[in-house]
Amino acid sequence: MRLRNVKGSREAIAASEFTINDPENQKGNWRKVFGNNKPIHIEVGMGKGRFITDLAKANPHINYIGIEKYSSVLIRALEKRQEIELDNLLFIRMDAEDICDVFAPDEVDKIYLNFSDPWPKDRHAKRRLTSKEFFARYNNILKADGVVEFKTDNRPLFDFSLEQVPEAGWNIVAHTFDLHNSPMNEGNIMTEYEEKFSSMGNPIHKLIANR
Ligand code: SAM
Repeated sequence: MRLRNVKGSREAIAASEFTINDPENQKGNWRKVFGNNKPIHIEVGMGKGRFITDLAKANPHINYIGIEKYSSVLIRALEKRQEIELDNLLFIRMDAEDICDVFAPDEVDKIYLNFSDPWPKDRHAKRRLTSKEFFARYNNILKADGVVEFKTDNRPLFDFSLEQVPEAGWNIVAHTFDLHNSPMNEGNIMTEYEEKFSSMGNPIHKLIANR
């Protein structure tokens, strides 16, 4: 994603009621933050937030938290968020590397990863959100019966992810190399990147992992 600095985005994020600026202080406390006991689903690397916002609209019985590293991207999600009435969607600006500082063991019910940055150089493999190092982090915060769902059009990243899941001690529950022509597509909600790349003719790959 090409990033332009968006003037004032940091300040707007800090001032927003929809972003949590001290997420480390909410560790173990997220149900209180939402004021209910609904399950918590997170998207790591949500970009401009279309996917998680559509999920939150469709599933009022679930609480959603979108995580994004860059203010200049998160601000776009926030602008859309301000126009809709929802009580089940919050955002955090943070690097997902620190996710274990923000969620307690078993606090998260489901993790979505969509069109994660590929980090093509081997020496950056640990930064990929589907590396075994990241699965070790997810292992800490995700409930025992929780799942990770990952979509991408990037075949090398998908092949890497299919290898990393068992290396991390997890299972591939289901996978497809062509989501939009697969039974796994039922109920699929498209992300911004998914719409862009599938309209260019790229097949979308998806895997679901559990322990
Ligand atoms: N998920 C969106 C979609 O499918 O349309 C956006 C995909 S975009 C290619 C990947 C996003 O993940 C970018 O906005 C990037 O800043 C964010 N990201 C990458 N690594 C991250 C990390 N370690 N922590 C938080 N966000 C991250």
